[in-house]
Amino acid sequence: MLDLSHPQSEHIFAAAREMDRILMVAHKMTVASSSKREVLFELTKAPIAKLMEVNEHHFGNSETIRGRIAMLAKSLVTLRNLNEGKITDDRSDGIGHCPYCSTPIKRFQPQYKPRPDDSWLIYCPQCSNLYTKPLDKLSLDGVGFGTDAI
Ligand SMILES: [Zn+2]
Repeated sequence: MLDLSHPQSEHIFAAAREMDRILMVAHKMTVASSSKREVLFELTKAPIAKLMEVNEHHFGNSETIRGRIAMLAKSLVTLRNLNEGKITDDRSDGIGHCPYCSTPIKRFQPQYKPRPDDSWLIYCPQCSNLYTKPLDKLSLDGVGFGTDAI
C-alpha cells in the first residue's frame, strides 16, 4: 500500500511523472519518420535530466538507478537512429504498420488513465520493447524509483 506521507513519496511520484513523459514521447517516436524522431528525441532530454537530478538529490545518487537511467537514455538514441535515421514513412496517425519493423501499429484510447491532452495511445508494440524494458527496470522495487519502497 502507498504511504503518501513517506518522505520519499513525492520524489518517487516526481520520477514517475518524468517516466510517463518519456513513455508518451517514445511511443510517438516508434511511428514517426526519422526527421520527426529527431525533434521528439529532443523532448526526452529534459525528463532524462530530471530523473538524474531526482536520483542525485533524493536517492543518494544510486549507481544502480543512474545505470538504469543511462540504459533508458541509450534506448531512446537507438529508437531515434533506427534504420540509420533514414525512415521516411510517418505513421503518426496510427493507421497501418510500423514504418521500421512493419508490425501492425497499436492505437487505442486508454480507459484506465485519462489523458486529456493526448487521448489516443499510438505506438509500435514491437519497437516499444526497446524502452519499456528499461522503464520497467527503473520503476522496480527498491533498486529504482519503485513505489514498493514507500
Ligand atoms: Zn516497429
